[in-house]
Amino acid sequence: MLIRNAEVDSGTTTDLRLTDAIVTGIGPQLEALAGEEVLEADGGLLLPGLQDHHLHLLALAGALDSAACGPPQVRTAEELAQSLLQHAAANAGDSEGWIRGIGYHQSVAGDIDRDWLDRLLPTRPLRIQHRSGRLWILNSCALNLLCAGDDAPLERIAGRPTGRLYDGDEWLRQRLGRRLPALARASGLLASVGVTGVTDASPHNGPDEIRHFAAEQARRHLLQDVLAMGGAELDHAAASDGLRIGARKLYLREASLPTLEAMRADIMAAHAAGRAVAIHCVTVTELVFALVALGEAGHQHGDRIEHASVAPPEVLPMLAAAGVTVVTQPNFVYERGDAYLAEVGAAELPWLYRGRGFLDAGIALAAGTDAPFGEADPWRAMHAAVTRRSRNGALMDGAEALSPERALALFSASAQDPGGPPRRIVPGSRADLCLLDRPWREARRDLSAVRVQATLKAGQVIWQRQPRAPAI
Ligand SMILES: [Zn+2]
Repeated sequence: MLIRNAEVDSGTTTDLRLTDAIVTGIGPQLEALAGEEVLEADGGLLLPGLQDHHLHLLALAGALDSAACGPPQVRTAEELAQSLLQHAAANAGDSEGWIRGIGYHQSVAGDIDRDWLDRLLPTRPLRIQHRSGRLWILNSCALNLLCAGDDAPLERIAGRPTGRLYDGDEWLRQRLGRRLPALARASGLLASVGVTGVTDASPHNGPDEIRHFAAEQARRHLLQDVLAMGGAELDHAAASDGLRIGARKLYLREASLPTLEAMRADIMAAHAAGRAVAIHCVTVTELVFALVALGEAGHQHGDRIEHASVAPPEVLPMLAAAGVTVVTQPNFVYERGDAYLAEVGAAELPWLYRGRGFLDAGIALAAGTDAPFGEADPWRAMHAAVTRRSRNGALMDGAEALSPERALALFSASAQDPGGPPRRIVPGSRADLCLLDRPWREARRDLSAVRVQATLKAGQVIWQRQPRAPAI
């Protein structure tokens, strides 16, 4: 394939030749060969395909098949009822008629329970997930279907299950059986925003998930490269070019931290197995605990902190000393900023989802959207990293703003080196590419307005925007 008139790196435009999966030529006015496909770039910026450094593929696929239950789509109890009923009417559900909702937040209808859901949908099994990803709320029909007996890890009041299930994903998965969702829709969505590689940060990834990713790639339902985190059971999992095993994910919860000794042992065991660790930290306590444990265990290249949602100045030297990469979610500034401004105390607000502060302290920084818990659009995330504006336009600590170039770099490094230098397109590069509808000097003015014109994986167009109808 010949790509004509694309901006590559330098601000000037050039042509590129792709041979199979590789960029084999870059230069002005390359001559099309007989039978060669030509893609006109019209001066648009051509980038290495983006890497979303933190998302959850299976949950994203599930979310695309679920009813919205929280902001911004759903803000009131009436809207929640409407969303669930519409979804139930439109979907016969899966084989057992399950209805699934996601993104619930108590600002919608308070601390709802099985009785609330029963009044709405008494005859179909229904489960809705809290936005935090830590809580499911089930109706009575769902509880019956799951045979939720006394051993079920459900919240109870006076002995009766409320329908609220905290940190019960594993239990739910076992009860529901292992039906892993098809990934074509999720993959297509990612391709449409220029993503050619993802890091799946799900802590429960095991051999079944890895086999599913591989099978979906083989069927060409899943078009992106995957770096899959997971637990120790992946230490010896088979990898391929397009599917690699990443860091061991260690998930901290402030309310039930392990002992420091246990944490240190987990980190050392991962390192001994040749794997880095990726530690989920959303509170200051979790972050400090992780850094103390890393300090004692010793760090290894590739160790990461996921989220580092609250990072006050006193922890920055610890982060720098630990040599870890912070993988942040700037899209939360936009998506959740208004809720943070209402709910987070003044002492922590300035240190939420920082950008500039990490870089100035010499800490390697990368980003992922955390889809489906965030929207799977790196361009919106980059825009939020630059503007620091919430959905309602509130400014979230402007001193943390990044330049558009630095924001782009958050999604441009390789999967294996998330805080490292942005990949570049040179002869010999893999032809994993993302073509924008405009040159960089225009794109950088408003990254949220950027549209991806075409996405290529291994030299093949995996997504292309339909040409606009000519104006009459
Ligand atoms: Zn996540």
